Amino acid sequence: MLIDSHCHFHLLEDVESADSALADAKANGVSYFLNVAVNPGEHARLCEFSARHPEVFASAGLHPCGKGPEPTIEELVDYAQRPEIVAIGETGLDYGAGEGDYTWQEERFSRHIEAARVAGLPIIVHSRLAPADTVRVLQGNAADAVGGVIHCFVEDLKTAHKLLDLGFFLSLSGILTFRNAESLRRTAAKLPIDRLLVETDSPYLAPVPHRGQENRPQWVFEVLKCLADLQRVDSEVMTEKTAENFFRCFPRAAQRAGLVT
Ligand SMILES: [Zn+2]
Ligand SMILES: [Zn+2]
Repeated sequence: MLIDSHCHFHLLEDVESADSALADAKANGVSYFLNVAVNPGEHARLCEFSARHPEVFASAGLHPCGKGPEPTIEELVDYAQRPEIVAIGETGLDYGAGEGDYTWQEERFSRHIEAARVAGLPIIVHSRLAPADTVRVLQGNAADAVGGVIHCFVEDLKTAHKLLDLGFFLSLSGILTFRNAESLRRTAAKLPIDRLLVETDSPYLAPVPHRGQENRPQWVFEVLKCLADLQRVDSEVMTEKTAENFFRCFPRAAQRAGLVT
């Protein structure tokens, strides 16, 4: 059962094509999807899409680079009551804009962790150029009690172990297939198979051999195949493992899929 653990159907260039992108992915063997929110303004649309397509789960949150209005903890918890929502996020730290004061991002991140704790849901963490601070904020907010996934994981083995020690799953994206990602591939080969997920982050980060195109959830197999080769297992084994891991990471998704009672 192949699962795209992180994608954004609503951010495809032609939003109207979300239904056909989903149909294409299903025709290519992708069974489940986590359609991740980047802004609370889109929660209603995400939930509506998930209600029409039960194999698509949704999340609630404001991306670290997202422009306000800033959701309160209560608002996030309130969003999380909707049955389609299986996680809080994406949240985290993104230092891609260069030097500056990122205290506000840290506060936003902490509020999302608290909302997840209250709602009893895992978090989806986005961490870009901020490995040490991501670990520090997760530790400082006792995020081990919340759990979740570090999406689009690109850090070194030492950071991976700190995140694994906090109970987080690590999700690999199309970056794993990029020509210049040799050190990430070396790290990915050594990660524990029972803690790995795969994702497209569609419409971003199209994997080889689709680079330069708008990324589609149907290409998650390219990431999975690359990870399976690195871990020296068959793609069937990696497919089953990452599906098991996904439903352990997101228990409400397992419930919604009817896999647990
Ligand atoms: Zn992200
Ligand atoms: Zn994303």
